Amino acid sequence: MTPVSSKPKRPAFIILGAPGSGKGTQGQILGRVPRFFHCACGDVFRSLDTRTAIGKQFVEYSSRGELVPDELTIDLWKAQIDNLSDAHLYKPDIDFLILDGIPRNVRQAEILSRYLDVHQVFHLSCPDRNELARRMRKRALKDNRIDDASDKVIDQRIATYEAETKPILEFYPADRVTTIDATQPPVKVLAEMIQCITHLPIYQEMAKQLA
Ligand code: ADP
Repeated sequence: MTPVSSKPKRPAFIILGAPGSGKGTQGQILGRVPRFFHCACGDVFRSLDTRTAIGKQFVEYSSRGELVPDELTIDLWKAQIDNLSDAHLYKPDIDFLILDGIPRNVRQAEILSRYLDVHQVFHLSCPDRNELARRMRKRALKDNRIDDASDKVIDQRIATYEAETKPILEFYPADRVTTIDATQPPVKVLAEMIQCITHLPIYQEMAKQLA
């Protein structure tokens, strides 16, 4: 059981979308901006030593296009965030956390709400599944992603997204969810996210404190 944190909840934004919708691309760019810190759950898993028990579990689940079990995922994510915070790379009192790849189901969203104040969820919407599959095949070649390499796993990952991840959109209040057309050029997707963030009261409050 993950213990309840006594620390103040961290301000966060979530980028949510099917595999191939561009979450990582946008998260990485936003994470380069001072006072934003990007944390991609898939990258945390991929950085594991595959000889360890947890590394082996990741390979087992991800190569089938399935989710890694929740307890394991949250514990690993929490440990990573705490390490980054202890090393002062991520500063929870002044940085907005940009989450990509977590939460991936409603249960994870519930557990994360113990630690996070989610101010906005950016839903990168791409209803064209063929376009998603095309992007994933391209990524498999460029980034050596085994989970993007076969059509069977790609189909399974998209099905997992529809069944388990998409319902998260109902978990958050409607005024905290912004849907963005993910088939637009990346710069336009980024512009829409920034436009939304800079108009949020929490952003304006934190910007004033740091001015
Ligand atoms: P993408 O960016 O294409 O959506 P990720 O790199 O985020 O893919 O994730 C790759 C794989 O890692 C997932 O298919 C899943 O097996 C595992 N994974 C990543 N994040 C989570 C999570 N929050 N919960 C469970 N499994 C996860």
